[in-house]
Amino acid sequence: KETSTRENNVAKIKVVVRKRPLNKKEISRKEDDIVIVKENSLTVHEPKLKVDLTAYVEKHEFCFDAVLDEHVTNDEVYRETVEPIIPIIFQRTKATCFAYGQTGSGKTFTMQPLPIRAAQDLVKYLHQPVYRDQKFKLWLGFFEIYGGKLYDLLRMSAALTVVSSTICHLRLFMREDGKQQVCIVGLQEFEVSDVQMVKEYIEKGNAARSTGSTGANEESSRSHAILQLVIKKHSKVKESKRNNDGNESKAGKVVGKISFIDLAGSERGADTTDNDRQTRIEGAEINKSLLALKECIRALDNDQIHIPFRGSKLTEVLRDSFVGHSRTVMISCISPNAGSCEHTLNTLRYADRVK
Ligand code: ADP
Ligand code: MG
Repeated sequence: KETSTRENNVAKIKVVVRKRPLNKKEISRKEDDIVIVKENSLTVHEPKLKVDLTAYVEKHEFCFDAVLDEHVTNDEVYRETVEPIIPIIFQRTKATCFAYGQTGSGKTFTMQPLPIRAAQDLVKYLHQPVYRDQKFKLWLGFFEIYGGKLYDLLRMSAALTVVSSTICHLRLFMREDGKQQVCIVGLQEFEVSDVQMVKEYIEKGNAARSTGSTGANEESSRSHAILQLVIKKHSKVKESKRNNDGNESKAGKVVGKISFIDLAGSERGADTTDNDRQTRIEGAEINKSLLALKECIRALDNDQIHIPFRGSKLTEVLRDSFVGHSRTVMISCISPNAGSCEHTLNTLRYADRVK
């Protein structure tokens, strides 16, 4: 009883918008900041031209669970989004935290520190007598979905797979165990006992993600990066029973899990008319996954029994996080400059549909 009451205090789905400050380039171009934040609502002042070329402004107002302006720190973002979920991870909750938005809107800036802070708090809980005695351990896995395929970001392979001309990631495959548990075959999970380790894995994974032939943001903006922190309970018997592929982490039973997802740039979903065939294919895949994600979250919000996971690789991988005790936080990142107006409105409309 007490558990369910406490769980209910944390909203099942939370939609938060974060606005970044104007950057140097935008300031030097004398671009206007067109996003005004007021409490949990914001107004976008869209610059427009009439047929006779007189300028006017069209205002669009949106309201969310929280709106974080350009002065909000990453630590405050953590407290607003992930911190409330941490205690219920130990109560069988599978949580997901997404960063959505156009390339350059601050997704990675926002997402990167969150698992580090979360791990810090999870480790604190692990040290409490009640959990210490239960032999709970914290594990970390980091992989990406690129063009509908899964790759481990922490394990490179020269022989098995080639993603681009410069990087070799280990290709992973997904399997369902019939009990709605998702298993990613071959995913290397690492036991983590302190924050420094988490930091290093994140840096390593993010570096692997952005090494591409066309430059850092180019490649990473077309992949969804998924970092999972998993609490597992280890029993002595099972611990000695190691898997064939040396994946020790499978030995433990999953108690709870939190996934941090740095989504592909939302504008990439519109790449479907690009001249390059590969870009078009990737664009279509991104478009499909972002639409499927929206549908799944909406279904979750309406307590629908059938969640449309099958719509994309992304939602299939997250399948077990959409059933049972689940929590979803969507952080929609927006750029403030006039030049990004169309993308900003698209992001806000997407977030509005999820809410
Ligand atoms: P994305 O991952 O969405 O493509 P990034 O997180 O890489 O975007 O952010 C783009 C740039 O803007 C980076 O240089 C980043 O440091 C900066 N930035 C993003 N959000 C903020 C913020 N809230 N405050 C200060 N700088 C930010
Ligand atoms: Mg990024």
